[in-house]
Amino acid sequence: MLDSQANVKPALFKKSIQRPALILNADYRPLSYFPLSLWPWQEAIKAVYLERVNVAAEYEEVVRSEKLTLPLPSVIVLKNYVVPTKTVPFTRATLFLRDEFTCQYCGYKGKDLTFDHVVPKSRGGKTRWDNVVAACQSCNLRKAAKTTSQAGFKLKKAPTKPSSEVLLNKGKKFPPSDMHKSWIDFLYFEKDFD
Ligand SMILES: [Zn+2]
Repeated sequence: MLDSQANVKPALFKKSIQRPALILNADYRPLSYFPLSLWPWQEAIKAVYLERVNVAAEYEEVVRSEKLTLPLPSVIVLKNYVVPTKTVPFTRATLFLRDEFTCQYCGYKGKDLTFDHVVPKSRGGKTRWDNVVAACQSCNLRKAAKTTSQAGFKLKKAPTKPSSEVLLNKGKKFPPSDMHKSWIDFLYFEKDFD
């Protein structure tokens, strides 16, 4: 336990280095998969200090206060279960995740995706789950203000609003690239890690 007067400062790692803690719900599942629920080390240490979490795994580095040296937590578990939210926000991130970062016209997968209104805005198309899809820049340019049939395009799948379960499962397929090895035991990604 930290001393109440403790002035916690990182001792053996540089502040500029990211050492986030994976935050798990009381049932040991991540609070969210996409983005993966991570807390900055400062928040993780504070939660440990306030006894709101248990530490499940640690980094090799420590943080040092005047009286105590604490291992830096890499996985922490909430003591009180938080009911996961079922609402799905309509954002670029969740839209790309629904479409699995794939152009819904040509199947291109890449980081430079944009989004396209199936029924163009100029024709009254709304910015909604059922009218916006991930699209590559070239399809987006070629389609422009045309309808799908005018552009000779065919959607891979009719867009709909995804359920939170569907998004959660898709989120598991897209883990962050800078995963700490201690997190892997707590995640159930459908891909292998080196
Ligand atoms: Zn495309």
